[in-house]
Amino acid sequence: MYPNLALTCTRCGADLASGDRKLSMRTPEGLRHAYECSCGAITITVSADPVPIAGEG
Ligand SMILES: [Zn+2]
Repeated sequence: MYPNLALTCTRCGADLASGDRKLSMRTPEGLRHAYECSCGAITITVSADPVPIAGEG
């Protein structure tokens, strides 16, 4: 599965490449990425990456 299949700028709709990624941070919802478009807008994506939780189950 490719959760980041359609990654486009929220302002101008331009395609964003992985090279546009400025920062990543881990949140309870998943891994959050911030992309900066050439238009200057910042697009935030969250890719849920289920990580096995030790000690659960
Ligand atoms: Zn843009």
